[in-house]
Amino acid sequence: VGPRLEPTSDGIVVVSDGRIAAVGPAATTTMPTDAEVVDAAGLTLMPGFIDAHVHIGFYPPAEVLHGGVTTVRDLAWPPERIFPLVERSAAFDFDGPTIVAAGQMLTVPGGYPMRAGWAPKGTGRAVTSIADARAAVTEQIDSGATTIKVALNAAVGPTLDLATLKEIVAVAHEFGTRVTGHVYGLDELDKALNASMDELAHMLMSPEQILDVTIARMVSTGMVVVPTLSCFFGRDQEIAIDNLARFRDAGGTVMYGTDLGNEGPVPGIDPREVDALSRAGVGPLDIVTSATTVAARLLRLDDVGQLEPGFHADIVGVRGDATTQAAALTNVEMVLRRGRRVR
Ligand SMILES: [Zn+2]
Repeated sequence: VGPRLEPTSDGIVVVSDGRIAAVGPAATTTMPTDAEVVDAAGLTLMPGFIDAHVHIGFYPPAEVLHGGVTTVRDLAWPPERIFPLVERSAAFDFDGPTIVAAGQMLTVPGGYPMRAGWAPKGTGRAVTSIADARAAVTEQIDSGATTIKVALNAAVGPTLDLATLKEIVAVAHEFGTRVTGHVYGLDELDKALNASMDELAHMLMSPEQILDVTIARMVSTGMVVVPTLSCFFGRDQEIAIDNLARFRDAGGTVMYGTDLGNEGPVPGIDPREVDALSRAGVGPLDIVTSATTVAARLLRLDDVGQLEPGFHADIVGVRGDATTQAAALTNVEMVLRRGRRVR
């Protein structure tokens, strides 16, 4: 409970009108006499997970919700498809997670993801000049974007130059909007840092070790990492895990995200992601905070991410003690969205 998610045993959560009315130890928390009681013995109750990197269009939203993820941030999909879904997801009875979105991924003509096999037409937006950078950012925000996503993937094509990238970041920041990026390669990572980008949407995608001096710079500039370790495989994953472990040891902030829609992650709280985060030295409680309180703060989601009075009753129950065993995080047995039990 609380903003730091202090575990409490023998606790109860009182839900009323879709929000949390009270929470705490059974001995000291008053339950209304007419309450409908749901027994959660043996379960760890926690705030619903926020997955900060998905492409929700690849799955029925209900599958994501029923797996314990109650809020998602979609990082690139055609605006005419994603923003109507964002709107629908705000409804009390929507059978899926609450969705926020970036809209299009900003890139250059011929750059990633303009020819990517997974990306429907309109997923990318080619920026052709510095003046066009302002137009591209403004288009996304006018459509409803709460994050701006850029692509810096030098492995498959040209990338945004530093001046254009700087303009994208400056315009996004004028609107108070954070900028996240798909970054492949150490040179592109330097560019992201030089442009004051806020976030990596994946741990560095190339199989390269990030130098300690660069990690120190990422931490000191407040760059957040959304690891998506679940979509790395084999040796590439080991390198990403090592980069993440050193980033965390240096004091870096991690926000949970899987890249659902890519090869690897599955809908809901993702076992491969949880396992890989554990191997990077992220303890079970830190995994939960990265997916709840930390994500809610960074994404400015004021009423989710905590089990506290006044917050949306987005609650997940997992079998076992998830405060000490990461594997328990994926034993989802109970899901409430805004107080409505969906599992
Ligand atoms: Zn993605």
